Amino acid sequence: MNINDYIYLDNAATTKIKKKVLDSMIPHLESNFGNPSSLYSFGQESRNSIEESREKISTILHSKPSEIIFTSGGTEANNLAILGSSYAMKDFGNHIITSSIEHHAVLHPCEELEKEGFEVDYLPVDKFGLVSPKDLKNAIKPNTILVSIMMANNEIGTIQDMNNLIKVVREKQDSNNLILFHSDAVQSLGKMEINLKNMDVDLLSVSGHKINGPKGIGALFVRRGTPLRPIIFGGGQEKQLRSGTENVAAIVGFAEALFLAESERENFNEKCTNLRDKLSNRILELIPQSFLNGHPTERLSNIVNISFDGVEGEPILVGLDLAGIYASSGSACSSGSLDPSHVLISTGLNPKLALGSIRFSLSPSNSEEEIFYVVKELSKIIKTLREMAS
Ligand SMILES: *Cc1c(COP(=O)(O)O)cnc(C)c1O
Repeated sequence: MNINDYIYLDNAATTKIKKKVLDSMIPHLESNFGNPSSLYSFGQESRNSIEESREKISTILHSKPSEIIFTSGGTEANNLAILGSSYAMKDFGNHIITSSIEHHAVLHPCEELEKEGFEVDYLPVDKFGLVSPKDLKNAIKPNTILVSIMMANNEIGTIQDMNNLIKVVREKQDSNNLILFHSDAVQSLGKMEINLKNMDVDLLSVSGHKINGPKGIGALFVRRGTPLRPIIFGGGQEKQLRSGTENVAAIVGFAEALFLAESERENFNEKCTNLRDKLSNRILELIPQSFLNGHPTERLSNIVNISFDGVEGEPILVGLDLAGIYASSGSACSSGSLDPSHVLISTGLNPKLALGSIRFSLSPSNSEEEIFYVVKELSKIIKTLREMAS
């Protein structure tokens, strides 16, 4: 099936790889296959490509190259951050604070740690999906070792007040009570400015395939001096923190994708904001009993999440698919199950409305024409489903 015949509105799930990104990867798959750990020059060429990519990424994020650890994606970066820092800090305390709207790649490692005797607080959010710095402040205890709060949410797009959340932690911590701050920045990358000189986090996760790069590659920023233990053991690659022969082609593609995303960031946000507002305003205007989820202003330019009263998400998606439109209900990880999204439930939305919610996530390649078509088809689908239910 040709994706060009479809309207792709699921860019928060994954994105199409850019031609320039693919082109940058090909030589590393086709001919430059040397193992970066091999000492002869053919292997060292691969090593150089990795180190150039690391420099490219660190320049954009304003970190040191040595602070970028490549992983197999955002999920592994989050696992390394949560598990690796908790294990490294366990002599100093066993209390972790995160939020109730994190991606499962943060929540599930935290739940595993609970089984091992760590204590985890899942901070609530307000109806817009915001974590309150005051709640965070009150949750910090003498045995707190780690705080993990995402920059922007993948389901509703809400952007957290990172500066104040980090400030609260730094004010509470003293020399004999180190508290690490981790942030899942997978959805923020390429959309928000991430300047690790100004942003006082210890650990930050990013991923390639959400920014038109390849799947199966990501990175964890580890600020120099941050206690961290590996969770994968072997040949000692990535400064002993992530063993395994490096995915050279994906690393090169990731760096190229980030470079392109960063140079197009302003244009991306401008175009997506325009499309996003047209889409949500028209839906809310034309479809009765539809409600916008997330924050009205503090949100990513490309995510719209809307609930429709009296209908379920799954049949809406089927209807959209038949009309050639790809979107998502809840998070991709929970599709196939009938559980309402943990993010929407956390914002206080009633479970019935949470089950009737659709996430549209845009890219600058979408057009206004597509948006008009989507709203027209969506109106018909909701109307039909409501008639069938009554
Ligand atoms: C997609 C996503 C992840 C997981 O990243 P992968 O590279 O797919 O493993 C983690 N966190 C957020 C917020 C995401 O959107």
